[in-house]
Amino acid sequence: MRAIDAGLLICHECHQLNTRQPESPKQFCTRCGGRLHERRPNSLVRTWALLLTAAVLYIPANLLPIMTVNSLGKGQSDTIMSGVIELVNYGMLPIAAVVFIASILVPTFKLVGIALLLYSVQRHQPMSARQRILMYRFIEWIGRWSMLDIFVIAILVAVVNFGSLASIEPGYGATAFASVVVLTMLAALTFDPRLIWDNTDSDDDHE
Ligand SMILES: [Zn+2]
Repeated sequence: MRAIDAGLLICHECHQLNTRQPESPKQFCTRCGGRLHERRPNSLVRTWALLLTAAVLYIPANLLPIMTVNSLGKGQSDTIMSGVIELVNYGMLPIAAVVFIASILVPTFKLVGIALLLYSVQRHQPMSARQRILMYRFIEWIGRWSMLDIFVIAILVAVVNFGSLASIEPGYGATAFASVVVLTMLAALTFDPRLIWDNTDSDDDHE
């Protein structure tokens, strides 16, 4: 049974539970006065819009150089993937693993995961409410590692610049990558998790 069936509405701002008044068109929180919604308006459309923008920017984020290392008058540009390979060649395996996980695995899982969740909620298929909430929690959990990559680049820049014979400049790929990170974070925020329990076909989800 859902809270909405029990006549309860939660406040987005202060998490107060309010009794639903079906006769009033607009309802406000009894504690903080915030606007109450049964479901966040246009949650699916907004999440799709953010997600598709992120998916488009995902292409330049991976194809354009994320940074250029200038060493002794020679410049070498690296994309995320060539950077990972470079790190492996230098024997910096732990950093290579962190960059690979943070820059390639995490954004890919987030994009695919949110898309699956949206598709499932919209089409009543193919996941049960339980699978959806697991996917949602996974996306939330994975999201906190999104900024790890920016952190690694910052460390690399510091380490290389310290050597003074070389310098690092961030490339357009870094801008695109940061946009992908921010957009997927916003997409996860815009998604109203209460939608997970709507549109479920299997009866055991309503117990
Ligand atoms: Zn409130």
